Amino acid sequence: MEMPAPNPAILSAKARIVARLRGVLPADAVIDAPEETRAYECDALTAYRCAPLAAVLPSSTAEVAAILKICHEEGVPVVPRGSGTSLAGGALPTADSVILGVARMNEVLETDYDNRFIRVQTGRTNLSVTGAVETDGFFYAPDPSSQLACAIAGNIAMNSGGAHCLKYGVTTNNLLGVTLVQMDGTVVEIGGAHLDAGGLDLLGLICGSEGQLGVVTEATLRILPKPEGARPVLIGYDSNEVAGQCVSDIIKAGVLPVAIEFMDRPCIRATEDFAKAGYPDCEALLIVEVEGSDTEIDAQLGVISQIARKHNPVELRESRSAEESARIWLGRKSAFGAMGQINDYMCLDGTIPVNELPYVLRRIGEMSKDYGLDVGNVFHAGDGNMHPLILFDANKPGDLEKCEAFGADILKLCVEVGGCLTGEHGVGIEKRDLMGSQFSDDDMQAQMRVKDVFDPTWLLNPAKVFPLAVSDAHRGVAA
Ligand SMILES: Cc1cc2nc3c(=O)[nH]c(=O)nc-3n(C[C@H](O)[C@H](O)[C@H](O)COP(=O)(O)OP(=O)(O)OC[C@H]3O[C@@H](n4cnc5c(N)ncnc54)[C@H](O)[C@@H]3O)c2cc1C
Repeated sequence: MEMPAPNPAILSAKARIVARLRGVLPADAVIDAPEETRAYECDALTAYRCAPLAAVLPSSTAEVAAILKICHEEGVPVVPRGSGTSLAGGALPTADSVILGVARMNEVLETDYDNRFIRVQTGRTNLSVTGAVETDGFFYAPDPSSQLACAIAGNIAMNSGGAHCLKYGVTTNNLLGVTLVQMDGTVVEIGGAHLDAGGLDLLGLICGSEGQLGVVTEATLRILPKPEGARPVLIGYDSNEVAGQCVSDIIKAGVLPVAIEFMDRPCIRATEDFAKAGYPDCEALLIVEVEGSDTEIDAQLGVISQIARKHNPVELRESRSAEESARIWLGRKSAFGAMGQINDYMCLDGTIPVNELPYVLRRIGEMSKDYGLDVGNVFHAGDGNMHPLILFDANKPGDLEKCEAFGADILKLCVEVGGCLTGEHGVGIEKRDLMGSQFSDDDMQAQMRVKDVFDPTWLLNPAKVFPLAVSDAHRGVAA
């Protein structure tokens, strides 16, 4: 993975820069000792590492503004960081950059049940947003599998989703407003505690902008009344095609499940060995979950089971209790851990039209043989978001490179069939060099002109999203 060479002038000015940061932050909020900055050398894409110049841990929007003002004056790149769970290398530092971590900014600022919103500092973890309102019967809908650890900051930057986003949408559909600090320290409010914004919809630009446009310090989020209950049905099929057809038929029938999850045989086998959830021995497994009162759940599961039976399932298991539901979800929720027990893995994230699923899975199987690397597929089937997990051995010379090439081919395939490079994990460095397979030069120029407006000196989150040659040429930087 190519990264820009660090700026020697910044490296040699480290002492002055750190001293200036210490002037605006408490002593324990500035980390510059090499043994401590190592904690920030990577995110969850651990294959790539680089310790930053320093890391800072502000507690307020005012402190973030002060940090950015100093870094702007010193010409120091800044990498915003939430909890560091990005799978795309979105929070990977460069040696001459300052990591700005918002983990200490985790307060609830306002809760308004009449207008159904909560305002939080963005270092708050996703799950603890629901934790703050659930005793009053509310919840925050987007539910990344990493929700125990990941922060609202990263969710906004990556426009994160989760298993239950089929019904409720991803982060952008549940975000009402943000406080954003621009690279020069200017604080701006975008959106608010209402559904639509006056003027241009800048919130739509910020959500999913991967730390390229500003540092989001506070967020107003939509909260919803908790449904009375939820129950899944597990359906096993002997072919990916038939499982794919069942998904299309469920969606066509007009029932709106909260989740439709799909696992292929390698993934079913791995999770069964690991979690012993009692999954059937089959080619493809669907978990379809619906919500509502008991009567509503029974009615919806009735329709879904009727559709599923028409396709001759190997197994169809409707949950009747909380214990059965937990058992059905156990394997799916353990899928990443199960694959990690077998070997190192790279988790990809691409989106395809749902009807292309059987073809795409077949091609991934063929490529797996060609590359000699095993792969298991977990898929948010309702919205077409795939997560192929490629197994490789990080200690075997050449395996990582082979894995990267295999991953690139899978993502290009997603684009070829009419999908796109990312569903929820973002571009980061992982998909940066593939942007040209989805966007023309003109498309990328248009996106970079947006960055020019928000971050004219291009100091925020360097080397992410845009291929280096393309962004260097745009900025007039010599290669
Ligand atoms: C086991 C596992 C399961 C996962 N499951 C899912 C899933 O189901 N769905 C999903 O969508 N993702 C998933 N992810 C990916 C990851 O959790 C999400 O991308 C998450 O939103 C990242 O949040 P974070 O706080 O850890 O962000 P970080 O990793 O710290 O940063 C992510 C990006 O956000 C930017 N950023 C961070 N803070 C700010 C800020 N204050 N202002 C502006 N930009 C900022 C960073 O620069 C970076 O580009 C998973 C990850 C793991 C490890």
